Amino acid sequence: RYRVLSEQAGLPAETLDGVRVELFGNIEFVDEVAACLKWGAAGVGLYRTEFLYLRAPTPPTEEEQYQAYSAVIRSLQGKPIIIRTLDLGADKLTSYRGAGSLEANPVLGLRSLRFSLRHPELFRTQLRALLRAAVQGDVRILFPLVSTLDELRRARAVVGEVAAELRAEGHSLRDAVPLGVMVEVPAAALMADQFAKEVDFFSIGTNDLIQYTLAVDRTNETVADLYSAADPSVLRLIAMVVEAAEKRGIEVSVCGSMGGEPLYALFLLGLGLRSLSMPPHQLPEVRRVIRGARLDAARVLAAEALRLDTAREVVALLEAALRPIL
Ligand code: PEP
Ligand code: MG
Repeated sequence: RYRVLSEQAGLPAETLDGVRVELFGNIEFVDEVAACLKWGAAGVGLYRTEFLYLRAPTPPTEEEQYQAYSAVIRSLQGKPIIIRTLDLGADKLTSYRGAGSLEANPVLGLRSLRFSLRHPELFRTQLRALLRAAVQGDVRILFPLVSTLDELRRARAVVGEVAAELRAEGHSLRDAVPLGVMVEVPAAALMADQFAKEVDFFSIGTNDLIQYTLAVDRTNETVADLYSAADPSVLRLIAMVVEAAEKRGIEVSVCGSMGGEPLYALFLLGLGLRSLSMPPHQLPEVRRVIRGARLDAARVLAAEALRLDTAREVVALLEAALRPIL
């Protein structure tokens, strides 16, 4: 089975009726690029940069970041990469947040983009490194945990300022690096239509989207039974985001765990997704499902799933649809 899956790594993720889906890898470290390439990823759909920051008690310098990003970009040999700005906080704490920053509800607190906007020097340093490294490949920048348009506009303004500063110093940069937002807060999903006018792409972060939609801590085992990508509320939010992206003609992909689970591949295909990003080892199974699927059937399935009342019913429906393929 392993042999069959690895032989298929070079084949496109294309349905039986000829619809192409691009499959990307999620990475945290440069050495994971090799696994992405081995399993036939079209590029990196999510590079989580916070791990650079979690290694040491002090933040990485611009030069250290420039080197790290450059290494990842170069190892992709021209394939596209989406680099996410710092997503610190909640489950990704680090010591230099300072003892004074203890929060009663860190998941609802100063994390991710909120943290970057509150610490402009840290944010600018990362953006300088990213924009400098971006000349070496097909790079896009992604902001995590965006809740409001105002946050997006502020982040975009900082990117503009940093680019102008670098150019004034004599750096030659790409004309424009595409900017996108993670859709992982229900507020952003509900406002997707507005966000789509102001960004180049969406990346749906289902891990946090499930947590915030159902009010279930993604790390709390005592309420883990409530935490489900199959919950109809989550499915509906994703459908809204895809529809908004289609309407405005921007790219949309899923980079949360749901995007790498074979169980949801048909649903996401049927909803209109043509790009999924996942840990590299999950690429073969998802590719296999796509290669065994038909778009018309997936569309019917997605519409049917959206009409159901409970996660349990959705899972039963998707399992039944997957059985003939796997
Ligand atoms: C997500 O929330 O779905 C996501 C991809 O980001 P992370 O798991 O790093 O929060
Ligand atoms: Mg997230």
